[in-house]
Amino acid sequence: MHITVYFRKGNKIPFITLLCGALILCILVPLLCSRCYFTPSRPDTPQVYGVPLHQMLMEEGSSGRPGTHRAIRYVVIHETANTNTGADAMAHAQLLQSGQNGTTSWHYSVDDHQICQSIPDDEMAYHAGDKRKEGGGNVNGIGIELCVNQDGDFEKTFQNGAKLTAFLLQEYDLGLGAVKQHADFMEKNCPQTIRDEGRWQEFLQLVEHYMEEPY
Ligand SMILES: [Zn+2]
Repeated sequence: MHITVYFRKGNKIPFITLLCGALILCILVPLLCSRCYFTPSRPDTPQVYGVPLHQMLMEEGSSGRPGTHRAIRYVVIHETANTNTGADAMAHAQLLQSGQNGTTSWHYSVDDHQICQSIPDDEMAYHAGDKRKEGGGNVNGIGIELCVNQDGDFEKTFQNGAKLTAFLLQEYDLGLGAVKQHADFMEKNCPQTIRDEGRWQEFLQLVEHYMEEPY
């Protein structure tokens, strides 16, 4: 059966044409608009040297985030030592947010394409293994964990870690001497890959290089 709708006398529009028009109006137009307005990389996501920085703060007062305000003297570099597939910055930030990581905590997780922040810079976290030692890594350091997940590109993570470090040194008016390894505060081979491969000076040089560029 052929259905025809008479639009005006002598001017008929086939039903299928009307149906297509209605479909475009009701489905395609809102879909296209929503793609314009809700793309994942919204321009309001802050960036550090072009790397998106996601705020995924731990609950205030939780065991890993006591909320102790302090002076910032160091940026402390770590590696997660977690090579599992999917163990990226987002996964580590989600772990901290879930409260299932006990008292161990750090400020930033960095992978090959993003940075996730778990604790505000001006609050203490427990990453350096030196408890609340005065002048220590926990009390005065901003802890950065570099991801070593096997499905990530560690070279890019290395660069992103240097970018974040360069940004923080400038934010808090610190020199290159403020960049520390976890191993400076306790006997632990961390950041392991960088230490084992003898790349610490290369990391510091990269930090210095980024500090010369506007973030
Ligand atoms: Zn560490």
